[in-house]
Amino acid sequence: MKKVTILLPAYNEEASFPILERCMRQVLDENPAYEWEFLLVNDGSSDGTLREMMRLHQADAHYNYVDLSRNYGKEIAMMAGLDYATGDAVIIMDADMQHPVSVIPEMLRWWEEGFDDVYAQRAQSRETWFKRKSSQWYYRLLASLSRVPVQKDTGDFRLLDRTCVDALRQMREVERNTKGMYSWIGFHKKGITYSQQERRAGTSKWGFMSLLNLALNGITSYTTAPLRLASILGLLVSAVAFIYLVYIIVVTNVWGEPVAGYPTIMVTMLFLGGVQLLSLGILGEYLGRIFNEVKQRPGYFVNSYNGKRGASPASQNPS
Ligand code: UDP
Ligand code: MG
Repeated sequence: MKKVTILLPAYNEEASFPILERCMRQVLDENPAYEWEFLLVNDGSSDGTLREMMRLHQADAHYNYVDLSRNYGKEIAMMAGLDYATGDAVIIMDADMQHPVSVIPEMLRWWEEGFDDVYAQRAQSRETWFKRKSSQWYYRLLASLSRVPVQKDTGDFRLLDRTCVDALRQMREVERNTKGMYSWIGFHKKGITYSQQERRAGTSKWGFMSLLNLALNGITSYTTAPLRLASILGLLVSAVAFIYLVYIIVVTNVWGEPVAGYPTIMVTMLFLGGVQLLSLGILGEYLGRIFNEVKQRPGYFVNSYNGKRGASPASQNPS
């Protein structure tokens, strides 16, 4: 019997556990042809999330949990989950159950057909207009910046074959943009659609700043195109400056008009200053990333696996 792991990263999701339990029960009932593992990753929650995980693990052998040493963010929590997952395939879902378990049978069907990465696309999102529009534009921008295709309106909700999981596990970078990584590894991909559920318990952990951070992270870890922007801007500004120079020479020498000094100098200086700061900022973004990466730290530390220090699933060896 093939084993499938459902990976559920959770940060302060205490309130979501009743729904989570119900959904997992539904998965078991609807898909008896598979062996199931429900792998909970506690991303340093400060509420009763860990207690709930311990309770579930004790009551039901399908549940395993990894307790991280602090809050690392969802990307790293997923990295840890992939290390500890034991299934032949892994389905990543949000612990708040905004991803409907009803699409799982369809995912499994495509997996059996030979697809390695069955990703779920949001049909129509119930997010706010601003969140929707900005994510739409963001994907468009990403796509135009890189040669690796990006899947639109796609989150982390997907089924990954063991091949993909092992590929992702080899990518140990700590500045992670998992969305870009799914695309980067390639393999046979299949998109299916689903409609996102409203969050039914707890609150979203993504404020505007963390979303902006995620977006910038996405671009800078996905492509080096912004670095080229600095060169292009420099070239453009020089060209404009040169044309302006010729214009001034002609105007003063042929028509003998006096040149107005202050405004032109002011405008030029401010413009150039802006361009220089922007270029520096872009350089800094990449530099910071390189700094974090060259330290070669492990992505995360683990308090316990199923309540035991230093333990790991028998069939795996998490790095
Ligand atoms: N999450 C996490 N670590 C964090 C923030 C979030 O593991 O630092 C988990 C969270 O528990 C949830 C998933 O990531 O299972 C998505 O988070 P959330 O629902 O807050 O995001 P949204 O659905 O609003 O985009
Ligand atoms: Mg959510």
